[in-house]
Amino acid sequence: MGAQAPGGPSRILSPVPVPLFDTQTPLLPLRDEILARIGEVVEDSRFILGPNVGAFEQEFAEYVGASHAIGVANGTDAITIALRAMGVGPGDEVIVPSFTFYASAEAIPPTGATPVFCDIDLETFCVTADTVRAALTPRTKAVIVVHLFGNVAPVAEIEALGVAVLEDAAQAAGSTSDAGRPGSLGTAATFSFFPSKNLGAFGDGGAITTSDSELADRVRMLRFHGSRDKVTYDHIGYNSRLDELQAAILRVQLPHLDAWARGRRAAAGHYAAAGLGDLIALPVAVSGCEPAWHLYVVRDRRADELAQALSAAGIDNKAYYRTPVHRQPAMSAYRTAVELPATEEAARTHLAIPMSAVLGREQAMEVTDAVAAASDGGKPTASASAREAVA
Ligand SMILES: *Cc1c(COP(=O)(O)O)cnc(C)c1O
Repeated sequence: MGAQAPGGPSRILSPVPVPLFDTQTPLLPLRDEILARIGEVVEDSRFILGPNVGAFEQEFAEYVGASHAIGVANGTDAITIALRAMGVGPGDEVIVPSFTFYASAEAIPPTGATPVFCDIDLETFCVTADTVRAALTPRTKAVIVVHLFGNVAPVAEIEALGVAVLEDAAQAAGSTSDAGRPGSLGTAATFSFFPSKNLGAFGDGGAITTSDSELADRVRMLRFHGSRDKVTYDHIGYNSRLDELQAAILRVQLPHLDAWARGRRAAAGHYAAAGLGDLIALPVAVSGCEPAWHLYVVRDRRADELAQALSAAGIDNKAYYRTPVHRQPAMSAYRTAVELPATEEAARTHLAIPMSAVLGREQAMEVTDAVAAASDGGKPTASASAREAVA
């Protein structure tokens, strides 16, 4: 990447702000169809567990390659309900990475179990068999494997440790791997349809997928007050359903998820082609996987200064997990299995830069120019290799 003087030509040519994500543009061509489906639901008036929820559950299960999908109210409930259906309860430990969205761990204590935090691989931001092994104890009942930022963590290697895996696939709809899609890899998996996720509803929504029919049956009961028939209540459950309107909206979008995922991968390709990897550390795909990058998260030793410089240049950016979950006040009662050096470093150095299904070559070049200009200003470190040379 050629050095640009700060305020040099690339600055003059980069007036258009680049948003962190763009969920609106991909939906524009689907607008009329979505409004028509919403109209049908209103006419039909079966607003709770109606035909669209059932149809979406079938279509989504088929898409991920699992036998069952069960719609729930959001991705956080999905984790709690899936863990309970897997038999997790008081006295159990559940291993979870600390470098993730808070909800991955927050969903554990409501089951009665205790979160035990494990480390990640710095380059992929995902847990590995080694980081999970370091946190195993005789009380470990399950591991929540987070497919962070759309990467696909190595589920089979972790199951080979002899522990049940719940995939937190909230950020990985549309990703693929040699072993299959997220949602088909562990004992069960959870998804969020929060509007900014790769497959986003017009409100909250979530799902649990599994190929274990008995587990699916328990999930269906738990989402409806622990009852199968609304007459007998077998369990203390939840009122946690995917809304019929949201299901109708998601059904219009699902056939487009793969094309959007290709757009996200193309955007990552544009960054690579623009030479961004010569300036800062890019996220690395787990071997055998094709991530549908939900967020595109780079690393830089002076991430906060880079963030300021990018913002000043109109490039939207965000440090999502500056304080890792194990250091959040609400988690002070729970322990970390070991030191979490990669988590601490990722927390300190990560920065999400613009990513969407429609992020084009020009935008990627604009972002890369802004990173280069920031580097030349002597603020962030120039590149991963330069950083290593200094270290
Ligand atoms: C978004 C998210 C969740 C929670 O999903 P909600 O639908 O917002 O409850 C859980 N885990 C991860 C990794 C997420 O990104």
